[in-house]
Amino acid sequence: MRYEGAVYRPPSEAYSLIIQVTLGCSHNKCTFCNMFKDKKFRVRKLEDVFIDLEMARNYYSVVKRVFLADGDALVLKTEDLERIIVKVKELFPECERIGIYATPKDILRKSEEDLIKLKNLGLDIIYLGIESGSDEILNDIKKGATSSEIIEAGQKVKKTGIKLSVTLISGIGGKEKWKIHAVESARVISAINPDYLGVLTLIVEPGTEMYDKVGNGEVILLSPKEVMIETREFIKNLNVDGCVFRSNHASNYAPLAATLNEEKDRLLNQLDNFIENAHEFKNEIYRRL
Ligand code: SF4
Repeated sequence: MRYEGAVYRPPSEAYSLIIQVTLGCSHNKCTFCNMFKDKKFRVRKLEDVFIDLEMARNYYSVVKRVFLADGDALVLKTEDLERIIVKVKELFPECERIGIYATPKDILRKSEEDLIKLKNLGLDIIYLGIESGSDEILNDIKKGATSSEIIEAGQKVKKTGIKLSVTLISGIGGKEKWKIHAVESARVISAINPDYLGVLTLIVEPGTEMYDKVGNGEVILLSPKEVMIETREFIKNLNVDGCVFRSNHASNYAPLAATLNEEKDRLLNQLDNFIENAHEFKNEIYRRL
């Protein structure tokens, strides 16, 4: 395959064929993110995307999942995405799922009809990084969207029937804003009721604005125990139905998994246990994105 630069995908797309349809991230301003800092955003030519798909068809005998990268591939024009999805289905009739990354603004720019068209052609899942539900924190981290826009975008995807997987980042508000992060994130996620919710834990990457803010004391990081307290507050305030919650990523201090609200009490008990009983958390050196 012909990949340009580092390629990122959600953990659940680990065995997917990854096809870069855009390069970099059209936003590329989040203060904690260094994934695409070395790439200037651009849209790849359709003919190049098609060549990659044909190369993959010749190479792989079975492709069950395809993931369209890079950072916010849903920014592509709907007509181009339609042509790409049709080509995927034509070349890989065995493909069971097509996924894509999106920003809230990418979703809001598409009409509901466009999203339904993409779903009917075969787009099955959209991954949306929310990071926090607090407008203050969203502004601090330059997410490029308000909590109302995030709710509108998330509800729009849910309405079309495309599966929605969202992520939050625990600790992103630091010691000063942990409570507002927990409570406001619960408000936003409850309003959206995503199919999947992943909670990562902040990793401060050199070369980011967040790194500088931590360095100069503007943001004070949470300890592992404080991350658990923040997560508990978030879960306590959360009200969702049939949402698959996972916080068992390489960045997390302790693994958590539940279906919510169904298993909310068990999850709260588990968090209480982590908080009250000197639990041994993952060593900092083993945490990664
Ligand atoms: S939108 Fe996503 S990929 Fe783009 S800068 Fe923000 S976190 Fe990074």
